[in-house]
Amino acid sequence: VLACVASQDSFSRKEDSHIHGLSEMIVGVLGGGQLGRMLCQVASQMNCPASSLAYDHMVGSFDDSATVQEFAKRCGVLTVEIEHVDVATLEKLEGLGVDCQPKASTLRIIQDKYIQKVHFAKQGIPLPDFMQIDDLEAAKKAAELFGYPVMVKSKRLAYDGRGNSVANSEEELSSAISSLGGFNRGLYVEKWAPFVKELAVIVARGRDSSISCYPVVETIHKQNICHIVKAPADVPWKIRKLATDVAQKAVSSLEGAGVFAVELFLTRDNQILLNEVAPRPHNSGHHTIESCYTSQYEQHLRAVVGLPLGDPSMKTSAALMYNLLGEDELVFMLSGEAGFQLAHKLITRALNLQGLVSIEMRKQRKMGHITIVGSSMAIVLTRLNSMLKEEASESE
Ligand code: ATP
Ligand code: MG
Ligand code: MG
Repeated sequence: VLACVASQDSFSRKEDSHIHGLSEMIVGVLGGGQLGRMLCQVASQMNCPASSLAYDHMVGSFDDSATVQEFAKRCGVLTVEIEHVDVATLEKLEGLGVDCQPKASTLRIIQDKYIQKVHFAKQGIPLPDFMQIDDLEAAKKAAELFGYPVMVKSKRLAYDGRGNSVANSEEELSSAISSLGGFNRGLYVEKWAPFVKELAVIVARGRDSSISCYPVVETIHKQNICHIVKAPADVPWKIRKLATDVAQKAVSSLEGAGVFAVELFLTRDNQILLNEVAPRPHNSGHHTIESCYTSQYEQHLRAVVGLPLGDPSMKTSAALMYNLLGEDELVFMLSGEAGFQLAHKLITRALNLQGLVSIEMRKQRKMGHITIVGSSMAIVLTRLNSMLKEEASESE
């Protein structure tokens, strides 16, 4: 649990009427991960430059009702960096007048992917066909109807594809189901989306309902984890427009302020299908820190405290985010210490790249990421490839 504040002094000197930053609102962020940290960094920048600390935090679980209620007392507005929070508590707090942005109703829809799909289907938003399954017979029926392969998905607590299992045939259905822990957690089946590209659009909505969309990006996943983000996506103007329209329509059907990341499939026949929405800053928007006039993190804070939305357009022609995953082919079957050493070497090499604007490294499954910008995607890709090739030839 984290709190980031708009002014350092808001914590201690509530009676003090001096304005120290752009907003005096205390923003509480539920979740203490990387996205929350980036929100705090932006909060610091938006305020009194001399205050090195524009945030404070409270240790506890964002899923624990008592902690969240205690935390809410210290904040003017509550927001999230993860959707898997205790929604019942947020609904109760809203009933008591606590300001949650986005609204608890939005988190309730999003955190159950099946409810999310039902919601968007009702809005007429294009989605892969899906069906709830309560037993193996129902799963077989759904798969027969959709045709194999099918994606079996957990309704709740899904991230990085943990909660997805592919079944290529009827024989594989029961193992796909048991790999997700069986029917107890709640499952549904989704028709395979024959996508040629995956796209994402970050949509921001202010407290005054103003809407602003970031450029469409292409996301390339590896084992269900976002691996590369290319901004802008190399797709025709018509597709960019369609993707943005679908994303905007999806977000318009949800309540509250903030940024929302809309994950989309582009199919062979130029259809756009919605995959899912994240009601918060998103991996696909890391690049906005360096490549857009207003980053998704600043935009989220502007939105939830009620400042005007910033300019989401790109100030560089092209940007690429490369996520260093533990299972990276360059980190070649290595995990733990050896994988980390190799990732470290790759990042050290990245330090030589022109157009490198961001580097991050830590000892986790997502070991870090780099962001490269340049005057064209071809240039950016050449820079990335020079780093990857050198590494590959060295490890031969
Ligand atoms: P995230 O970390 O984005 O929250 P998640 O665990 O919620 O991931 P999804 O977004 O549902 O998982 O799926 C992860 C990836 O799996 C997608 O980005 C896509 O590559 C693939 N995928 C998901 N659903 C389908 C589908 N119906 N057809 C084909 N591929 C799919
Ligand atoms: Mg998800
Ligand atoms: Mg996803």
